Amino acid sequence: MNIIMLGAPGAGKGTIAALIKEKYNLPHISTGDIFRANIKEETELGKLAKSYIDKGALVPDDVTINMVMDRLSNDDCKSGYILDGFPRTIVQATEFEKALQKSNTKIDVCILVDGDDDMIANRLSGRRVCEKCGASYHIEHMKPVKEGICDKCGGNLIHRKDDTVDVIKDRLKTYHEQTQPLIDYYGKNGNLKTVSGFLGSKEEIIKAIEGILN
Ligand SMILES: [Zn+2]
Repeated sequence: MNIIMLGAPGAGKGTIAALIKEKYNLPHISTGDIFRANIKEETELGKLAKSYIDKGALVPDDVTINMVMDRLSNDDCKSGYILDGFPRTIVQATEFEKALQKSNTKIDVCILVDGDDDMIANRLSGRRVCEKCGASYHIEHMKPVKEGICDKCGGNLIHRKDDTVDVIKDRLKTYHEQTQPLIDYYGKNGNLKTVSGFLGSKEEIIKAIEGILN
């Protein structure tokens, strides 16, 4: 099963992707990871991408798509994958579809993890992060045993500057502007499924995922 994930920051996309990965044994592939791996291994595509990044320029779509297609041809993607963070634009989406067609494959489903903006802002602004190990907490939903202290390593929990309601609302606005065309695109192709990122228990989320994927 070939899956694309879309969703606002803080809407629960990561949690849902992790559950799909676990239940269906599919690799969770982010474009960030693909870029880092190619650059680290100094592949031809990685060197090419790096030449643009070093100039402060955007990596051209065909380079990105070649890297993605290369990653998707690995053995671990034989029974499918969860693609996260790509495509980001309509041009990428249409070019990606052409590349998939050429290799006789397709996207089976695009999962949109949806969430009310106010709920997302509330969730994100209540987040506290350990400055030592990066573990994430929430002042209401996931409290540490001792206030302000990380359960795992004893580090201090901090409220990150970009986790304030104003900054989050701004980020959400940008997200909606950028993502709506993709939602329309996959909606038109008939394989868009929406799941709420605020379903609560693990069982509820798995039930919703099964409803979509089975
Ligand atoms: Zn910690």
